[in-house]
Amino acid sequence: GMKSKAEVVIIGGGSTGTSIAYHLAKLGVEDVVLLEKNYLGSGSTFRCASGIRAQFTDEANIKLQRYNIEKRWKHLSEELEYDVHFKQTGYLFLATTEEEIEAFKQNIKLQNKFGVPTRLITPEEAKEIVPPLNAEAFLAGAWNPEDGKACPFRVVHAFARKAREMGVEIYEHTPVTGIIVENGEIKGVKTEKGVIKTGIVVNAANAWAPIINEMAGLSRDFVPIKPYKHQIAKTEPIAPGQIEPLTCPPAWNDSYVIQDGEDGGVICGTGLEKEPTSLDDVQPTYDFLREVLKWATRIIPALKYVHVVRQWAGFYAKTPDSNPAIGRIQYVDELYIAAGFSGHGFMMAPGVGEAIAELIIKGKSKVPLDWEWYDPHRFERGELRSAAFQIG
Ligand code: FAD
Repeated sequence: GMKSKAEVVIIGGGSTGTSIAYHLAKLGVEDVVLLEKNYLGSGSTFRCASGIRAQFTDEANIKLQRYNIEKRWKHLSEELEYDVHFKQTGYLFLATTEEEIEAFKQNIKLQNKFGVPTRLITPEEAKEIVPPLNAEAFLAGAWNPEDGKACPFRVVHAFARKAREMGVEIYEHTPVTGIIVENGEIKGVKTEKGVIKTGIVVNAANAWAPIINEMAGLSRDFVPIKPYKHQIAKTEPIAPGQIEPLTCPPAWNDSYVIQDGEDGGVICGTGLEKEPTSLDDVQPTYDFLREVLKWATRIIPALKYVHVVRQWAGFYAKTPDSNPAIGRIQYVDELYIAAGFSGHGFMMAPGVGEAIAELIIKGKSKVPLDWEWYDPHRFERGELRSAAFQIG
């Protein structure tokens, strides 16, 4: 049977929710329940491209991701006693115009300032890193060898397994249907299987987070997250070491290719869907397949000879400024949110989980996470951050 009370209830079992659960347990909070309406990872996490980068264009995201890579991802397998297959295979952004090169230089300067060793490279150097690259099509690359990838399946499993070992209860196939709030205080969480009394709730439902906020009496638009369908086409395995970094010419419709760290197939994405969709639309489309293969074969011409074996769709849970909402919600005591990751939440999950867990238990965190920048209340104040670059 399900527990009837808990100190903390986490809603959503993706990389964010399972990371929060693990980090709470690590801080000694044993009485934690995580509720997932479907199965763990079934939201965006198991549909993602696995990329992890510190190449952002603003101080807050660069600092958070530098910390995530140096202090969290590098040590995660050891800490969780389960190999999450984190590999520092880099991210390679490619420029097609002089203006882009200038923008790359500005970004590199900012990244270097915060210790991220990105550098501008020539097309020849890019071709050494990605041998089948159509190098003639590009003028330069922005290369950070410390960016990388990890296996989303292993990450969620490893967080959940360790959290359970430390006493966390995880209930899958258990949709939250309501949140009981009295006089601005949380009293419990309603599920299809019964009520769990609690005083602390974390909304880690990403694309579904506005629905959870509404359950707590807030407007759905308080944190205006919209689901944008993003798809991936994946090829049969190719020889190892061909396209190890995430390789992306942003000017080519935000298209990217990356060899899957698990089986060596090539994950191909492109920015086709420019409008939000509905939360039940994860239907892959032929339009996408045609579009993504057009771009992928321009980046890597030899992909013309490789079979596509799978295609799927998921959501970028996008906020108006493409930055997530992370922190305490002031209208309801002890209601927290970490959602709206806008296409880059997998890479942030370890540090965000640690930061939220520390915020709940200690009221502050040692994680260099800029709470102002990610403030969930910024939207109602009409304050937008500079848009975070969204690609994987
Ligand atoms: P989710 O994984 O969506 O988890 C939220 C969970 O909440 C879901 O499992 C859902 O079922 C559950 N839930 C919803 N409502 C309820 C309810 N009422 N009760 C209980 N549970 C509920 N990110 C990267 O960092 N790198 C990448 O390379 C990358 N590539 C991507 C490529 C694609 C094609 C897509 C679609 C996304 C990509 N992303 C990438 C984004 C990444 O997938 C997400 O940002 C990340 O997985 C968010 O994790 P999460 O745990 O916050 O959300």
